[in-house]
Amino acid sequence: MPFLPQEIIRRKRDGHALRREEINFFISGLTDGNITDGQAAAFAMAVYFKSLSSEECVDLTLAMRDSGIVLDWSKYRLDGPVIDKHSTGGVGDLVSLVLGPLLAACGGYVPMISGRGLGHTGGTLDKLEAIPGYNISPQTTFFQKVVSTAGVAIIGQTELLAPADGRLYAIRDTSATVESIGLITASILSKKLAAGLDALVMDVKVGNGAFMATPEQSRALAQSIVKVASGAETPTSALLTDMNQSLGSSAGNAIEVREAIDFLTGNRRNERLEAVTLSLCSEVLQISGLAETEGEALASLRKALTSGQAADRFAQMVCALGGPADLLERPENHLPLAPITKEIYPSEEGFVTSINTRELGLAVVRLGGGRSEPGQIIDPRVGLGKIIGLGEKVDRKTPLALIHADSEDSVLRVADDLRSVFTVSARAPEESPVILERIASP
Ligand code: URA
Repeated sequence: MPFLPQEIIRRKRDGHALRREEINFFISGLTDGNITDGQAAAFAMAVYFKSLSSEECVDLTLAMRDSGIVLDWSKYRLDGPVIDKHSTGGVGDLVSLVLGPLLAACGGYVPMISGRGLGHTGGTLDKLEAIPGYNISPQTTFFQKVVSTAGVAIIGQTELLAPADGRLYAIRDTSATVESIGLITASILSKKLAAGLDALVMDVKVGNGAFMATPEQSRALAQSIVKVASGAETPTSALLTDMNQSLGSSAGNAIEVREAIDFLTGNRRNERLEAVTLSLCSEVLQISGLAETEGEALASLRKALTSGQAADRFAQMVCALGGPADLLERPENHLPLAPITKEIYPSEEGFVTSINTRELGLAVVRLGGGRSEPGQIIDPRVGLGKIIGLGEKVDRKTPLALIHADSEDSVLRVADDLRSVFTVSARAPEESPVILERIASP
């Protein structure tokens, strides 16, 4: 008997588990337009209230993955696994820019499909677009060729990969149905698995700059993704990492690419950024079989950094995708920062005891480095540098952050708000770990 969309929605609304055939029918209707926006929104709302079992979530993930092409790597005869990382997004989170080249230098192949900034969080794609000439939307075969030669390519979402998610996500966004663990899991994984991965590591942020509102929700999302990815036969583990402060020392677009270059070339490495990056890399090197133990993974990662091989992979990727060949030698020539700078000082001396990370990210948006409406043109040169961390001592000579703006007006617009993002107290807070928990499949 043929399926009817309204009957599938009704069954989910009434709390029944959907069969694989029903999910496949619904998703193929989403892809070919036979399901209306109203039906898709009703389906999403039914799932929001009645949730999905792991089996249903695996079926939904695979149906959305298969709504477009799934990258086939067999003809490239790669001598290592195809691996990747996904993050729920944060502030000063430039991990992707350094992790991709690092994994490539350790023998992995990283076809990373990344997104634009969302809300207060930065987007890897916006950061890469700060590099003059860098093509974020190459043809699929060229993308695969760059991955097979440089070991890494980071590009934007294409309509060829998981198109059903593209449509469902847009409908969820306007029907108050984004915050469903099952729908988020299927949305993230369908796109990642369409890249033909052998293994994946998830960075799920926890804290006042995180996408999920509470630590419990972050943990539940991580557990769901690990379980569903394993059900879809892609070994995956997740780290819960702290987002109660900026991860790197900078937030913005050109400025974060500069920090990534400093990290890769060894000029300057923020300790927290290093800890998160190396832990995520180590996870995926182990689950993909590129390293037997954590010790082996870390030794391989250190060698990739000190030998310059990771920096080299980044340079190869940039050059292959149309960016300048001398980006690593002369980043300041290609990644200019906005001309007006102002250091923000605390009103009194002391230790930084809390940071409103969401507001910190919004300061970058207000400077013009992020969007307040879809499609808005952003200024890659603006942002924040020298961002102070929790527990650090500040005084009249040690700034909380350094603003890079395009005008004095713009500085005035954010300066006071930015000062109030940081709470400074006489006593230092207890040190808090950056890696909070590891969630692996059983
Ligand atoms: N990111 C995604 O790709 N999908 C979601 O549903 C939420 C965040």
